[in-house]
Amino acid sequence: MSILLKDATIVRQNSTRDIVHGDVYIEDDIITEVGTVHHEADIVIKDRLVMPGLMNMHTHLPMTLLRGYGDDLPLEEWLRTRIWPVEKKLKERHIRIGTTLAFMEMVAGGTTCAADMYFFEDVIAGVCRDVGMRCLAGFSIIDFDTPEMKREELIPACEKFIRKWQNDDLVIPVVAPHSTYSCSPETLERAAGMAKRYNTYIHTHCSETRHEVYDVLNRYGERPLAQLKKHGALTEKTMLAHCGWITKEEVRDIAGVGACVIHNPVSNMKLATGGYTPLPELFDAHASVTLGTDGAASNNTLDMFETMKFAALIHKHHRWDASIVTAQQVLDMATVNAARFLGLPVGSIEEGKKADVICLDLHAPNLLPKHNIVSHLVYAASGYNVTDVIINGKMVYHNRTFVTVDEDQVYEEVEKAKEELTGM
Ligand SMILES: [Zn+2]
Repeated sequence: MSILLKDATIVRQNSTRDIVHGDVYIEDDIITEVGTVHHEADIVIKDRLVMPGLMNMHTHLPMTLLRGYGDDLPLEEWLRTRIWPVEKKLKERHIRIGTTLAFMEMVAGGTTCAADMYFFEDVIAGVCRDVGMRCLAGFSIIDFDTPEMKREELIPACEKFIRKWQNDDLVIPVVAPHSTYSCSPETLERAAGMAKRYNTYIHTHCSETRHEVYDVLNRYGERPLAQLKKHGALTEKTMLAHCGWITKEEVRDIAGVGACVIHNPVSNMKLATGGYTPLPELFDAHASVTLGTDGAASNNTLDMFETMKFAALIHKHHRWDASIVTAQQVLDMATVNAARFLGLPVGSIEEGKKADVICLDLHAPNLLPKHNIVSHLVYAASGYNVTDVIINGKMVYHNRTFVTVDEDQVYEEVEKAKEELTGM
């Protein structure tokens, strides 16, 4: 299988951040040529903007089913009256349809890789495998019974899950202790030990709200980051979602260890968490900083173009400084930064890299005139500009049509799931 992207404007995201005019050739799962290509291919796409697919580093995929179900409520009330009662009713079929809907929304918006954490993770991983989504599938570990299993079953089930998926070329199994307020020290240690044994990532929520920071401090005498560190869960493979309430010292700790911060500006603003992930300080400390949407229940989309824009704007506004976070820095967070942290050969358009590539139509009213392409991608583009998406060399979205799912059938099943879960 070969794909030729001809006469393209290529945003390479290579080390010199080149934007060039030319062709990209994809053979099987690999980008084999960037430049002038003379041979033919099975599929030819002409005259597009070509760039690496966006990487959404923190989300809860099946929560697409809870999109718009209980907005404009205080966080505690939202969880207690809306989210938790519905999550109790979740069955495997709901997870399957919610994840498929999430996949469709993500690829139509130019996202090629998602770091998930939820319940029924084996089902989520299976859906990603079937539809062709690159996924870091985070098996949630928490000190409560989940809709899927009893709490004491979680650690052994997670181990089985890692063994099953550890050699897959699209799904990477991840250990996901939910947070320091919902996991005891013992649970954290067991989760961290397992991640170490299998040399995989740890994905957790960290310092999302001020309430959380003081709750953990009161209970354990440590702030959430120190609590993770104390119990072996802060490593160079740890993915820390949010970090809206971290100190300058904690910024240095994160950078020193080589863990990764995932900034979720839209979710943070919608849930009114108040804290500002300290991007300028994290950049100065050379920490690994990436972007996520969080789940669709608190965003309410999985739109990474929107997330890039918010990520730039929130800090400019907060610091009274329009230059504090640039469009290029934000685009890097959504592509090369995530790829570099994960050690995955994606995130840029270079020979030898895996073909996770998206195409946009630049002949669109919101993208003209072409003064500055990177500025357009962060401040002006949206998912509506995306025409084609290739993941691991496979075309999953072609001429704005889903290749691997039956769109109408999914919409029908989504409505059915909504009725089952909310009775509405
Ligand atoms: Zn989250």
